[in-house]
Amino acid sequence: MATARLSIDLDALIANWRSLDALSSAQTAAVVKADGYGLGAGRVARALTNIGVQRFFVAVAEEGVALRQSIGLDPEINIFGGHMAGDTDMIADMNLTPMLNSPDQIVRHLEALPNHPFGIQLDTGMNRLGIEPVEWDVIRPLVLSRNPTLLMSHLACADDPAHPMNAQQLATFHEMTDGIDVQRSLSATGGILLGPDYHFDLTRPGVGLYGGFPYEAAQPVANLSLPIIQVRDVAEGETVGYSNTWTAQRPSRVATLSAGYADGLIRAMGAGVSVWTGSESAPVIGRISMDLIGVDVTDLSEVPSHLDLLTDTQGVDTLAEAAGTIGYEILTSLGHRYARRYRGG
Ligand SMILES: *Cc1c(COP(=O)(O)O)cnc(C)c1O
Repeated sequence: MATARLSIDLDALIANWRSLDALSSAQTAAVVKADGYGLGAGRVARALTNIGVQRFFVAVAEEGVALRQSIGLDPEINIFGGHMAGDTDMIADMNLTPMLNSPDQIVRHLEALPNHPFGIQLDTGMNRLGIEPVEWDVIRPLVLSRNPTLLMSHLACADDPAHPMNAQQLATFHEMTDGIDVQRSLSATGGILLGPDYHFDLTRPGVGLYGGFPYEAAQPVANLSLPIIQVRDVAEGETVGYSNTWTAQRPSRVATLSAGYADGLIRAMGAGVSVWTGSESAPVIGRISMDLIGVDVTDLSEVPSHLDLLTDTQGVDTLAEAAGTIGYEILTSLGHRYARRYRGG
């Protein structure tokens, strides 16, 4: 078949959730924003509800609506972006739980949906989303009188265990929430790995479920196999691809693969990676085009129909490093032209 194949191993995803869950005594939710980090929020969340996961987080209400349609009425769906103008009907109709981020959102929510569940996001130093400590001092009695489901905050530097910001945010979270009888949540994947002080009542892993750094023990979830469209021989001194960035140093065989930066194979990763067939590899050469990638297959013992870009050993973080980015961006960029196949679950 001529399309590139993205295969997603739901059993590996489940194993990753279970092993992250086993690292804490807290309840473990799952973050499935950005279409399940590019791997399909509906399929991912259904696989997780089948093993009993009951709490999910997405970024915005629209994602919550789609997720509700995939996983049914029971699981709790939390919205990091809170209650934005225009969200009220979605929140009410689909029973979404917004994490309110500002005094404005709190007013909007309590006026529009006075009896509808909500959580609170507190800013402990990241200065991205959440209520500031000085604001919290003022509105806290009112908010607590309306029974929030969760008090949460987010760590800015959790993937660097030695970073002093972690302890600083932990202390601020304690100052803002100690003595309050409401569930608390501070940690995503990185925070889970920082240890029990960071776990509180609920953890919110995302990237670790999908096999990405900083969860080094994760099983790989995504594999990507690209079909070869054409193979040619090039003479020493000939060039390949845009801007002639690769020149054959010897008589070479060059294969052209069907996928490119329009499929999320970031152009900046360029010639830093290889494609694989079993244990043999062939280097990517020249510029990555919109829909095509050149590969030097001279040294392969035979040229197969497909070559693999994401494998169990060359994962999203390897591609990310070559592109000067993070595994999160590689995953969430994975394109829509792939034939997606789900295994297990
Ligand atoms: C994305 C996100 C998460 C999940 O983070 P990972 O690093 O992918 O585990 C958790 N909490 C918040 C607030 C987020 O934005």
